[in-house]
Amino acid sequence: MRWLLTSVTLLATALSLQAQVPTPASVLGHTPGDDYYLANYEEEIHYFHEMAAHSDRIKMITVGKSTEGRDIEVAIISSPQNLAKLDEYKADAIKLATAQGLDDAQARELAQTAKVIVHIDGGLHSNEVAGPQHSIALAYKLLSAQNDPEIDTILDNVILMLWPTLNPDGQDMVVSWYRRNLGTRFEVSPMPWLFQDYVGHDNNRDGYMLNMQESQVVARTEIDWAPVIFYCQHQTAPFPARIWIPPFSDPISSNISPYVRSWFNVIGTNMAAYLDEHQMPGAISESEFDNWYPGFVDYAGSFRNEISFFTETALYRYATPRFYTVDEFPKDMQDLKALTMYTTPWRGGWWHLKDAVDYMVAGSMSVLDTAARYREQLLYNRYQAARDNIKRYEDAPPFGYIIPSAQSDAPEAELLAHIMQENGIQIRESDTGFHANDRDYPAGSWVILMNQPYTSLAKELFEVQRYPAALFSESEKPVDLPYDVTGWTLPMQMGVRVDPVTDPITAEQLAHLKVVTDLDAPPAEVQGSGSAFILSHQPDASFRVINDVLAAGGSAAFAQDEVKTPEGTEKGAIVIGGVSRASLGDLSKKYAVSFLAVDKTPEHVISIHKARVGLYRPWDPSIDEGWTRWILEQYGFKPISLYNADMHSGDLRDRVDVIILPDMRQSQLMDGYRDGIVPGEYAGGLGEEGLDNLRDFVRHGGTLVAFNQTAATLVPLLSLPVKNVLEGLKSDKFFCSGALLRVELSSTDRPITYGLPGEPIVMFEQGPAFATQPGFHGAVLARYPQDSSPLESGLLLHPDAIEDKIAALELPYGSGRIFLYGFKPQWRAQSHGTYKFFMNALYKYDQPPFAKPEPAAARDQNQKTAE
Ligand SMILES: [Zn+2]
Repeated sequence: MRWLLTSVTLLATALSLQAQVPTPASVLGHTPGDDYYLANYEEEIHYFHEMAAHSDRIKMITVGKSTEGRDIEVAIISSPQNLAKLDEYKADAIKLATAQGLDDAQARELAQTAKVIVHIDGGLHSNEVAGPQHSIALAYKLLSAQNDPEIDTILDNVILMLWPTLNPDGQDMVVSWYRRNLGTRFEVSPMPWLFQDYVGHDNNRDGYMLNMQESQVVARTEIDWAPVIFYCQHQTAPFPARIWIPPFSDPISSNISPYVRSWFNVIGTNMAAYLDEHQMPGAISESEFDNWYPGFVDYAGSFRNEISFFTETALYRYATPRFYTVDEFPKDMQDLKALTMYTTPWRGGWWHLKDAVDYMVAGSMSVLDTAARYREQLLYNRYQAARDNIKRYEDAPPFGYIIPSAQSDAPEAELLAHIMQENGIQIRESDTGFHANDRDYPAGSWVILMNQPYTSLAKELFEVQRYPAALFSESEKPVDLPYDVTGWTLPMQMGVRVDPVTDPITAEQLAHLKVVTDLDAPPAEVQGSGSAFILSHQPDASFRVINDVLAAGGSAAFAQDEVKTPEGTEKGAIVIGGVSRASLGDLSKKYAVSFLAVDKTPEHVISIHKARVGLYRPWDPSIDEGWTRWILEQYGFKPISLYNADMHSGDLRDRVDVIILPDMRQSQLMDGYRDGIVPGEYAGGLGEEGLDNLRDFVRHGGTLVAFNQTAATLVPLLSLPVKNVLEGLKSDKFFCSGALLRVELSSTDRPITYGLPGEPIVMFEQGPAFATQPGFHGAVLARYPQDSSPLESGLLLHPDAIEDKIAALELPYGSGRIFLYGFKPQWRAQSHGTYKFFMNALYKYDQPPFAKPEPAAARDQNQKTAE
């Protein structure tokens, strides 16, 4: 009786608490989804805290900081009883996710009582504005419901981690841009900067590399909480569909657990049924979105056996509504016929922000409903996925991966091990040296034993990618286009050697492999005696050293002959002078590179000097610009952003020594946004005026560096004596949408390629390849191989089109020079192995790095054609 009374009292308390949950309108003055209204991050978080103050079904936690320093907050929503035992349920989730100390029977038992943790967020692409508004609506729905059996079941079975957004900075940027323009003719204009300070839309291409703070926070939180489901809200659906939902189209990675693969389909199919049940037409599946590239933040977790996926709800622009008629639909969709993966065609009409919010809330409710109904099965499958992964690699190779400590770029090797650790993979270090694959590996080598729950990511990142043959044919059918790149093998990109372990790990080997939580940087020191210091050009970290030394007033030069370094001998070694041994000692600790002190500076050196590095920053924002800016900042190049006004006015030589033009479409580079699309100050691109200034800049001694498509664009614009041999080739003649290709350096004597291996591997992503034309007086830096395919990882069709063609070159132009790269030497801040290709170009040289200056006749010629 007494028990009953207490229960009734508790129930009454709970009811009274829920009854007081404030409506969004009472706090924000608007209901999320109202036309012309968007809550910014601060307002949204304020509302979440108001809810938390009035409900015992929600708890706010802070999980980290954004790039701009905002707190990233997450709402934990569940029944009050579950929230009271949160730590216990978190521990259960980890146990099941890692199969830690459980046999099948114990796992089954635990799955019966554990709760299923579900991650849902308001998205990370901030111009997809409905996501964060949906988070408000979803939270209010779950917290304010009274005697609603559907929601009670969800709250009893599920612990929801609701992220208002994954990108707080971007939400505030976009909302303030919309507010500024609301009611003007620029109401729906695109925002002329990236919605994440560095990488904009590529914030969803950082899922394993974890360069950005937001990606690190997401990965760390996922590993801490082990949600079974990770659901990310996106917009836009393939028109005229109102929402894209799983199943995905092919290809899909074979390294994902089969449980995860089939749950994608179950969850998607349930969602389709849920939407139909709620009279919400227009859900489409499969079309367009595949599961191949593992770098999506909302997909990478699948390699930790999380069912990690997204949906794409229709978007117009911001909170402005739009009316659609059927005759605007693509011709083949105008008959409004049902399809297997498009069960209820949308018939047109108004599309308000409210509709997008409602579809997102429906998607989330459907996921929560599936999670609640299948709680036990989902949890047991999560355990099985971990168990099977462990067993798979106990029975068959690769049994492990070794990252040897002796590498041409040791700090990079440590970085690779560190990245794997941040992805939830345990790293061991060999204490005495390690014998495997019939070789001896030195002490300090890092080893990933594959019999861990989350190691399918290591396999996915370390192995060579081969695109499924079913999706293309060399001759007959066109390629089933991948949504993103086809190859990304990380050791190749980073220039780090990693070896798979081909024989089972023995007990004796295991005894020497110690688990490490904090990785030690490779040992580094200042050796020898003397006042000049030599370091290898091979570690990327050497550029950090050079930049620190030059900033401190020291000197740097490249040795032209083969000289001794702490690691061996090499051409192009870096010679440092004018700084104390003690300060280099500090740098050796800081960057994990060693120095060899010598009495006498090598005889033939090229002195380099600090250059002012300008980076063109278009108002039609370039993600490649953002990545480049981030890398340059990380390496101490202190880039100077050059906006249109800078490019158009005055002498560029007064401001900078080097200008980098990142990878851009030609219209993005030259034209930018048209006047009328955006407010006047953001309209236009480089234009003829900027181009003239750029020509003058190079002619008068400046250095111009251009990546990928921009390199191709510059050829006709600057009348350069080369041609892009891939121009206009259809996919039946040449296809490579993102793959790792091998190039061969043309000479070991060019300062621009010092530090690179003889055959670097580059990220080719729809770039050009060059051949020289009459009048060419420059230097070829690298070519694709002759008589063999350059393909190392990913998909390349018709390699003959690129054989023996030029991948990178250097051209004299007036008294300056131009570097063209037909690939992306800094791709997504992953291709560390090719950074040297452009970093070497970012200094002032005492003598020009190309062999021959431009002959006077050619200079006159290009003056003429250029004017
Ligand atoms: Zn998106």
